[in-house]
Amino acid sequence: MQYISTRGDAPELAFDDVLLAGLAADGGLYVPKTYPALDRDAIAALAGIPYADAAARLIAPFAAGTFPGNVLAQATRSAYSGFSHASVAPLVQIADNLFVLELFQGPTLAFKDLAMQLLARLMNHALEQRGRGATIVGATSGDTGAAAIEAFRGQDRVDVFILYPDGRVSDVQRRQMTTVADSNIHAIALKGTFDDAQSILKSLFRDKEFRTGVGLAGVNSINWARVVAQTVYYFTGAVSLGAPLRKLSFAVPTGNFGDVLAGYVAKRMGLPISRLIVATNANDILARALATGRYEPRGVTPTQSPSMDIQLSSNFERLLFDAMGRDPAALRAAFAGLDQSGGFDIPESALRAIREEFDARSVSEEETTAEIARTWRESGYVLDPHTATGVRAARESLAKDPSTPVIALATAHPAKFPAAIEKAIGRAAPLPAKMERILTAAERYTLLDNDEARIRSFIAENARAKPVGAGA
Ligand SMILES: *Cc1c(COP(=O)(O)O)cnc(C)c1O
Repeated sequence: MQYISTRGDAPELAFDDVLLAGLAADGGLYVPKTYPALDRDAIAALAGIPYADAAARLIAPFAAGTFPGNVLAQATRSAYSGFSHASVAPLVQIADNLFVLELFQGPTLAFKDLAMQLLARLMNHALEQRGRGATIVGATSGDTGAAAIEAFRGQDRVDVFILYPDGRVSDVQRRQMTTVADSNIHAIALKGTFDDAQSILKSLFRDKEFRTGVGLAGVNSINWARVVAQTVYYFTGAVSLGAPLRKLSFAVPTGNFGDVLAGYVAKRMGLPISRLIVATNANDILARALATGRYEPRGVTPTQSPSMDIQLSSNFERLLFDAMGRDPAALRAAFAGLDQSGGFDIPESALRAIREEFDARSVSEEETTAEIARTWRESGYVLDPHTATGVRAARESLAKDPSTPVIALATAHPAKFPAAIEKAIGRAAPLPAKMERILTAAERYTLLDNDEARIRSFIAENARAKPVGAGA
């Protein structure tokens, strides 16, 4: 399987190179040349098998020609062995035809672990084969950083630098990143927003000298391997509710559009999904874009669901690419409009194609709190504030179409956001025992200005992989 860039001006790469590259050299995102298709029997055959085996099967066609089946099977088994629940991503019913898929059973209690644990193992394998190291630089609105740090800590081939917006992540999220003592881990508190962090990251990736000098690798949700890893739970969740015979919808708390894009890819692969419901918080660019056809970021508003406090949803580019008939010139023109005039109009035909598969709904802070309280009252289940946006959007979809089951993705454990839970139900969700250490452990991070040059030099000084000829 070969991969092409959405901007049409980067070399075609194989899966292992896409895995290490993250962003394409032309600033675009890698997508597979075609989506592998599964027939109904192959989907039905996923019922009842271990999650890790389903993952190996589903990822195999994307990785064809790079990771042999046995390597993939070993990597998935190892990646999911540390999860707290035997089924990895258990499904819980909270109302008629309304289910939550718990994606927070991994080591950092957010769905990012499902992709990151696997990504770390695949990257390590690819680096070993090449006999080289890598420098991972990531931007995080909270959970990606923690998941990446946890997945890569202590690895001797990889240094990890994580930029997070200072003061805009929850205490638990920050502590998950700053209490890790391993010397290959560098947490950077950026005096800026997540979008600032992501924009610095993109620009570092565009700098060829720097990129090749430190062996830059990306683990943000723009990394295609993460998207692929996330398709797996759409299949396992749907199959356990009767797919492929029964059609259902998914409601997805959305920030950078990586998670819901994985649902779209699962659908392209043949999974019968009725609607993909995008739930956003007050940062509603996607809801506005679907309603009006104009993609136009505004300032970021901090909310109680910080992992969704994002205005530029990077992975939306992959959907647009398909919706625009895979025309890189048209896509480049759209994004030039974004750079020059702060937004662009999605072409009519593309908008129609997107609306055929997606709904989008912005959920306010009050609605989020009310949803946590309602679900607790009616079913004794505690939703985290991110998941609550998805459940709220799911209920609206069910009100219109009660006969199609909806799976809301539970993207974080409620204990990560104690203030939001306390406010909604008057008590905090207890932190799982494995998390207690981080509440008292010493923190270690570097506070840096929102200044690309400063970030670049900090990474160059601290990365073990140095440009050839630069010594060490
Ligand atoms: C990252 C994250 C999201 C948003 O996922 P995207 O793939 O960025 O859309 C939602 N909820 C939680 C808890 C997250 O960590």
